[in-house]
Amino acid sequence: MELQEFKSIIGRLTLFFDKKPPSEAAIMLWYEKVRHIPYAVTAQIYNRITAQDGFPKNVGNAFLDEWSQFKQTNPSKIIRDYGECHECGGVGLLFASKGGYRYVFACGSCRNFLKHFAEQTVVARLTIPAILSQGFMLIERRPWRSS
Ligand SMILES: [Zn+2]
Repeated sequence: MELQEFKSIIGRLTLFFDKKPPSEAAIMLWYEKVRHIPYAVTAQIYNRITAQDGFPKNVGNAFLDEWSQFKQTNPSKIIRDYGECHECGGVGLLFASKGGYRYVFACGSCRNFLKHFAEQTVVARLTIPAILSQGFMLIERRPWRSS
């Protein structure tokens, strides 16, 4: 999930438990532990945390516990939505070039792109055969860097 998404959940949790907002520094430290959790799962995590007695003593662990619960109870969904992918290798992105320009596509064979983008912001989501059929060359898979 993105930092802004995490901040927004923490904001709602502090309101829900009528708690003083945590420091920016604490939020950043928690975020490091939970950033790999897909945003799509956070609504469920929010619901489960707000079903408990109070604001979690250890926010990072609370999110990680809920995420591991979710994976155990929805293994097929995790494999389909966020698991390994024969096209993108689980990265969720496909890199291609055409006419000297480089392009990034959201992988059309899995939903790992949700680790990088919100569903509604994805403009180009293609499978490898679709990319090749439009005259692009695939280039080396590499981890996503925003710079
Ligand atoms: Zn994929």
